[in-house]
Amino acid sequence: MSQLKHIKIPYKKDTPAPPKQVEHSGKLSGKKPLQILSSTGPCPFCNGQSLQDHEIDIIVAELGAVQGQGKKDDLFTDVLMTCACDYDHKGHPVGVRGCGRSWLQEVEVI
Ligand SMILES: [Zn+2]
Ligand SMILES: [Zn+2]
Repeated sequence: MSQLKHIKIPYKKDTPAPPKQVEHSGKLSGKKPLQILSSTGPCPFCNGQSLQDHEIDIIVAELGAVQGQGKKDDLFTDVLMTCACDYDHKGHPVGVRGCGRSWLQEVEVI
């Protein structure tokens, strides 16, 4: 799906500003008001693909959509992502995947 090449940066538990913008999309499941958003997309630091589940408050997310695009089928929500790519990052703790970076990601709900 993604043409991005994975970058082998050393593991670091950190929350810097992402070096670039990446697009993530996800599907909702579960019951309102708390639903599970399963989002996928590349890590903006190492380019590795992450698949993560987030518990989100869908009422807040829908309000955000109304204030933003105004179109009901364009639903975006911000979630705190932590990289969970499948690659080995030098210095990662045992049992922990990804490069350790966390960032605030806008996710398109599809
Ligand atoms: Zn990463
Ligand atoms: Zn990675």
